[in-house]
Amino acid sequence: MCMRRMFQPRHMLVLAVIAVLCVGMVLGAGSAAAAEEVVVYSARHYGQEPVFDAFTKQTGIIVKIFDGSPPELFERLQAEGDKTPADVLLSVDAGDLWNAAQAGLFAPIDSPELQANIPAHLRDAANRWFGLTVRARTIMYNIHKVKPEELSTYEALGDPKWKNRLCLRSSSHIYNQSLLATMIKRYGEDKVEAMVRGWVANHPTLINSDTRILESIAAGECDIGLTNTYYLGRLLAKDSNFPVAPFWANQHTTGTHINISGAGVTAHAKHRANAIKLIEFLSRPEAQQLFVDTNFEYPANPHTPVHPILARWGTFKHDDINVAAAGELQAAAIKLADRAGYK
Ligand code: FE
Repeated sequence: MCMRRMFQPRHMLVLAVIAVLCVGMVLGAGSAAAAEEVVVYSARHYGQEPVFDAFTKQTGIIVKIFDGSPPELFERLQAEGDKTPADVLLSVDAGDLWNAAQAGLFAPIDSPELQANIPAHLRDAANRWFGLTVRARTIMYNIHKVKPEELSTYEALGDPKWKNRLCLRSSSHIYNQSLLATMIKRYGEDKVEAMVRGWVANHPTLINSDTRILESIAAGECDIGLTNTYYLGRLLAKDSNFPVAPFWANQHTTGTHINISGAGVTAHAKHRANAIKLIEFLSRPEAQQLFVDTNFEYPANPHTPVHPILARWGTFKHDDINVAAAGELQAAAIKLADRAGYK
């Protein structure tokens, strides 16, 4: 319509006004398209750029990322309230996602695609957060000093044969709190407390980094430890002779403890539709592949192949209790560790 009017010669003033309006409309449309964005508060610092770039390429929606630790982002979201620019919170432990949901920081998403792509035990029953990647926290051992037949369960790490041979992260770290919380849900406090007392009686060396635990096992400073699997994946990608292997704990009982990184749409999202599109995109195999391969994690969507380094570790039974247990029983886990003398 604009073009047709511009070619009527007798109405020059009208023509000029219409021309200005048309240019304005085009520019307006252009700037509206440029404004398509989604703002992500991310506590996940492991190779997220390739997957966000792929999302932008496919949808034209620009992803703006603000990094921070889980507590920083949690406090920031709470302080900002309905003024927050954040549309999505991406975090790295089910305990953190659970706490954010409890604090009202998420609004539920009704997405049949997410419900189909992400198994029920890896997402919130009320649809406020969804797991996107899976990591197992299991026993790691020095392949020159320990035979896998000597290993069995988390509980058996309290056997006296592991005295002065065990490296653990402190109980103040959420990864171990989530492990204990999930075990409390499975076995009850008495059994888990007895397990932790067994660990403490073996005088574990406390090291506050999963990578350093693995390096200590490789260096022979301890023979076994507990870490997340992706830290070993990273070390093996750099050095295929790194002398540490995972042992899948509790295969004859409840399975190896797993945790997630995951995301939810914030309660005050300004770009809610884009936020849902982003999380749905992250749940698809093509995005899952990029997401997990940059950090050697397991995909949450079971239709995604695992990285060859992880494939060499074989398949294992993982504990399929809902990962929300990590949050529900976090406070109980902290108290239990304290009672048992696990620093
Ligand atoms: Fe980590």
